[in-house]
Amino acid sequence: MRLKVLGAYGASDAEHNLTGYLIDDWLAVDAGTLTSKLSFAQQARIQAVFITHPHADHIRDLPHLIHNRFSQSVAALTVFAAKDVMELLSKHIFNGIVWPDFAVLTSPFTGKPPVQYRTLTSGKKTMFNDVGLTVIPVDHLGPASGVIVEINGQAITFTGDTGPTHEIWKRTNKTPNVVAVISEASFPNDQQTLADESGHLSPQTFGDELKKITVDAPIYASHRKIPFERDIESQIRNLRDRRARVLLEKNYTL
Ligand SMILES: [Zn+2]
Ligand SMILES: [Zn+2]
Repeated sequence: MRLKVLGAYGASDAEHNLTGYLIDDWLAVDAGTLTSKLSFAQQARIQAVFITHPHADHIRDLPHLIHNRFSQSVAALTVFAAKDVMELLSKHIFNGIVWPDFAVLTSPFTGKPPVQYRTLTSGKKTMFNDVGLTVIPVDHLGPASGVIVEINGQAITFTGDTGPTHEIWKRTNKTPNVVAVISEASFPNDQQTLADESGHLSPQTFGDELKKITVDAPIYASHRKIPFERDIESQIRNLRDRRARVLLEKNYTL
């Protein structure tokens, strides 16, 4: 599979982008960075986006992706999320105040709503276009779930933001042919208290998570906070686990 990392940081400036991943050009995971790095035509090819949790850095471009879809002659965008996350998006974002609920509006180009929302049941694999999506809750501030994506005989796990967690590793360990795990290390080791209190990992606790993962695949730390990116990178290297690496904003072929 091809993984386009549009944003691999937990903060943004002119050279660092918020969380956003695109698999094989049509399936997105998180929407911190989508519209801001994709052409109108590339956005039209996105068929579905999975949202891990409602924090602003993971949904920043979602209202704009949906808005653009309103004037594109293509099938509706499917937004996937766990039930608790979807409820928060509906209540706080697509509420007719912050942004319209485009799921009840009709696109003049297709005669249909430009978006549909689909809630996913935790722990149950849902098929979409022959792709398996298994949503697993993680341990962050408020509702948050990662997802295991199974596509063309390969699997990739995205935790989204999380502190130390268990269930998603158990499922990942049982999933055949995992080719990559995308997790996080937001703060350097000397800010461990802040990492713990905000439901994030440091390289040290990322290293503890690695011990729970039995798959032999690269395990990437995303979501670095900008001022500490070099520290985090060297601390990840010092873990001396050949699977551990930092996620870069580039295209990966897995
Ligand atoms: Zn985040
Ligand atoms: Zn978050």
